[in-house]
Amino acid sequence: MNPKSTYQKTLAETIIKNMQKRQIEACYCETSKEAVEKASSYLTKGAVVSFGGSMTLSECGLMDSLKANPDITLLDRSLCKTPEEITELYHKALNSDFYFMSSNAITTDGKLVNTDGTGNRTAALIYGPKNVIILAGMNKVVKDEAAGLARIHEKAAPPNSVRLNRNTPCANTGICADCQNPDCICCETVITRRSAIPNRIKVILIGEELGY
Ligand code: SF4
Repeated sequence: MNPKSTYQKTLAETIIKNMQKRQIEACYCETSKEAVEKASSYLTKGAVVSFGGSMTLSECGLMDSLKANPDITLLDRSLCKTPEEITELYHKALNSDFYFMSSNAITTDGKLVNTDGTGNRTAALIYGPKNVIILAGMNKVVKDEAAGLARIHEKAAPPNSVRLNRNTPCANTGICADCQNPDCICCETVITRRSAIPNRIKVILIGEELGY
């Protein structure tokens, strides 16, 4: 194993121990392939599965795997035809058995930092789905909550604004202006410092750069 891989694994092991103290289950996979296998191993036959918007889930191959899984019912927003259908699906997602997402940032002491525009993803993280499974590349790791918030406004939200075709200062200039724009995607921030239900939240850290 090269020094960078060894370092990432060592850091991941520290984060995993810190998450366990917070009743968050966690593990480390060196590759996306291993991570998708691990994530899929949690799924039970007949489970209702949903997910939050995430580049990581697409890049690591999880979305393809979920769409090809005949044993689950996937609540897939890409099949919705109207805004009303999307709203209904977001509500159904809160009752799902498994909810997949990434995290905008993960602190070395084991907290999750997430900011949403609509809030459907952060709502599901807080309460509702029986299990929340988070896949995140080691590029999401930051020192603390402040660094997590900085990461969101400097690294995550600007490219996400571009991806979502939002007319925001960060999409137009590349720099966050702490906006109050109608298109703003930074409306709710959730810091997860502990899982109230032991191991409801399961984090799979991946030794790759994934997502924004
Ligand atoms: S400019 Fe607005 S949407 Fe963009 S990162 Fe800053 S607060 Fe978020």
